[in-house]
Amino acid sequence: MRRLSASWLVPVSAPPIAGGAVLIDDRGRIVAVGEDEAVPTPEHASSEHFVDGILLPGLINTHTHLELTGFAGQADDPIFWDWIKHIIALKAGRSEEDFFRAAEAGVRACWASGVTTVCDMGNSGSVVAALHALDGSGIAHHEVFDLHSADPDVTMKRFGGELQRLAHHATGRVQLGVSPHAPYTVSGEVYRRTAELARAHGVPIGVHIAEAQDETRLLQDFTGTFADFLRARGVGPLSDVPISPVAWLDQHGVLSSRTLCAHAIHTDLDDAHLLRRHGCAVAHCPRSNRRHHGADAPVRRYVELGVPLGLGTDSEVSVAPLDLIAEAREARKLAGWTAGETVRALTLGGAEALGLESSCGTLEPGRWADLALTRADAATEPLEQVLASGPGDVSVTWLGGREVHRT
Ligand SMILES: [Zn+2]
Repeated sequence: MRRLSASWLVPVSAPPIAGGAVLIDDRGRIVAVGEDEAVPTPEHASSEHFVDGILLPGLINTHTHLELTGFAGQADDPIFWDWIKHIIALKAGRSEEDFFRAAEAGVRACWASGVTTVCDMGNSGSVVAALHALDGSGIAHHEVFDLHSADPDVTMKRFGGELQRLAHHATGRVQLGVSPHAPYTVSGEVYRRTAELARAHGVPIGVHIAEAQDETRLLQDFTGTFADFLRARGVGPLSDVPISPVAWLDQHGVLSSRTLCAHAIHTDLDDAHLLRRHGCAVAHCPRSNRRHHGADAPVRRYVELGVPLGLGTDSEVSVAPLDLIAEAREARKLAGWTAGETVRALTLGGAEALGLESSCGTLEPGRWADLALTRADAATEPLEQVLASGPGDVSVTWLGGREVHRT
């Protein structure tokens, strides 16, 4: 067993505890949490006390692209579509081995910043492989796209083959999901069939939706950069009537309680109600939203309606380095959260968005012992200290009771 104690302990499910401790069993689960003197000290337990430290649940990053690790600063295109094409060109230069090394480095960088669970999207298959190899925790959504012009049968057959090849990585705390990429790259037919596939296999869905203004224009009146691109490929309007990106997904059966919507910037009240009704979650990436689109998502509205909301960094090619707490500071301003609500979004909120709230996101008996240790000074309130910190302030991270990072 392992027993950890620190000057502050932040369970998230309860107020911060001055002089708190946590006891972890050999399976990596929490068995006791509380004030130091109330938590047992079994004879055979290895104990460690951290003076000037805050122990909190491992953070949950609900939107990453870890296969892009190493590309930071290599694509600065101001036009989003140019940026995407630039990423595709960068990726073309990487081998399968390169992708695996990048994904592995990405997972380790997450651990070093206190993030213990990720929700990732990509098409190389490297992140689910890296999570598996490192015995990590997370959901890796494998992307599918057909650019509206490929034969859906061919696309789905290839995609099914890729999923089959990757499925053996989904063991322990690693899940494989599906990600029909975005309305400008995925036809309605492929969305529908991917959603059916997800339901049939009981796997989660991750989408990029309502991200760029031109995505809205694509479905409103078939104008903008994405419409121009598709028109040049001989593709006609995607909808007979103007429709929002979220409503278009609904039309194709994509929205469900296992659907995570990354970005969801350009949504109206009807869209937010649709997300709420279907039980969809939002992965909110405030700094990426600003960097690419100069826009903010209607976070306050999502919170008020009770749409599960996690925080995400997006890739390091969007904003580097990945810093989930910096995202939380921005989200706090947009949502009008207290410090407690903001720390909750970093942990339990992310777990709820991913459907993992019964296993992680808080420090409670029965949960996985996923913890991060960050610096504390005696004078400042602990939640504000957590929110003022950065990746470099995390000195130790535990995943399921196992130490995965220490400086
Ligand atoms: Zn993304």
